[in-house]
Amino acid sequence: MPREVVQPRIRGFICTNAHPAGCRENVRRQIAVTQSLGTLPLSLNVVVVGASAGYGLAARIACAFGYGAKTFGVFFERPPEGSRTGSAGYYNTAAFHAAARETGLYAGSLNGDAFSDAVKTQTLETIAREMGKVNLLVYSLASPRRTHPRTGVTHNSVLKPIGVPYTSKTVDLNSGEVTSLTLQPASDKEIADTVAVMGGEDWEMWVRAFSDADLFAEGARTVAFSYVGPELTHPIYRHGTIGKAKEHLEQTAHTLDAFLQSRIGGGAYVSVNKAVVTQASAAIPVVPLYLSLLYPVMRAKGLHEDPIHQMNRLFREHLHPHKTPLLDEERRIRLDERELRLDVQAEVLSRWERITTENLAELADFEGFRREFRRLFGFDLPMIDYDQPTEIEIPLEGT
Ligand code: NAD
Repeated sequence: MPREVVQPRIRGFICTNAHPAGCRENVRRQIAVTQSLGTLPLSLNVVVVGASAGYGLAARIACAFGYGAKTFGVFFERPPEGSRTGSAGYYNTAAFHAAARETGLYAGSLNGDAFSDAVKTQTLETIAREMGKVNLLVYSLASPRRTHPRTGVTHNSVLKPIGVPYTSKTVDLNSGEVTSLTLQPASDKEIADTVAVMGGEDWEMWVRAFSDADLFAEGARTVAFSYVGPELTHPIYRHGTIGKAKEHLEQTAHTLDAFLQSRIGGGAYVSVNKAVVTQASAAIPVVPLYLSLLYPVMRAKGLHEDPIHQMNRLFREHLHPHKTPLLDEERRIRLDERELRLDVQAEVLSRWERITTENLAELADFEGFRREFRRLFGFDLPMIDYDQPTEIEIPLEGT
């Protein structure tokens, strides 16, 4: 079995390797947070699309270790090959499977392109064979591209403003320099492509596929994730191409809710989550600087949450099968209310207006952002000796 010394290989918002023991530690911590909140023993079957990292992984852990649910995860990750490590999501899932098995919880997974018909069909077949009807379908994909299963066309999403150019402060992830960035507005095709990738069409395909296969239990629910954020990020997020996709996703929730209500007395929801450091969010221009300001402000006020805290709130307070989700006027669950608190945003904005390369360390926690980013890949954890060789060929048990 290959043992390698694994040191981070990072350039900007890309990390091309991952540390298996570090990823295991990240999963262990999230399980510990969930267990500390107590288990609500429920006999549930949960499917998570996008289950290997960020919000999807946290959702899977919150359901498995918070409800005692059987879980099935779909994701697109690179297994280890020779001396090359697997991706973080691969090792996260291997660690999740091992922990679930130790606890006697069923965990099944499928590694493949969730946008494809083949992966949907294979998922449904496995679930019918091994799990039975599903109570909850969590949709948590974040992808830069999607090959449409009907047309065969590959759509690439872009992160751009709409209508007018947008100039903003940003931080260079390699040098830590605060600079100015101007982004040109997206073309109509780029907007449509982004909606095709990150909008609600694929979520709807998953829901209809489960319904057609008669694999939804009575009262089953589905949830997908959105983001609103403060005005500061609106030009690049909410009013940009990704925001258009999120609007489409939120509209899709209304259609799916009516559909599931009439079919099985179920429901479809969008949960607006807070901004957190994930592979997907680190890639959005301006967002790393915003996160570097948001984290210390929320921490100082005792309001900080990681994805696992957000997902435990979601599944304990809103989507617990005996609870009715609390919704805003647009029928969305809001987990971002602490991020958007007036005092939090006033402080973030005041710092944002003053921030420069020179005072970055004083006003923001850019080092903290970088540490969180490295930790996504299992690096920078105090209990791991990164000079020691580690086993990189970790099997995904039970898949
Ligand atoms: P992430 O990058 O941490 O995880 C993305 C997941 O999608 C991974 O499991 C990956 O394997 C999977 N995936 C990507 N392409 C795939 C494909 N073709 N087939 C199968 N799986 C695929 O992302 P995240 O930040 O947790 O985002 C998840 C959702 O949460 C997104 O809808 C995002 O917009 C939303 N959200 C994120 C934030 C944030 O700050 N990160 C805030 C609010 C909402």
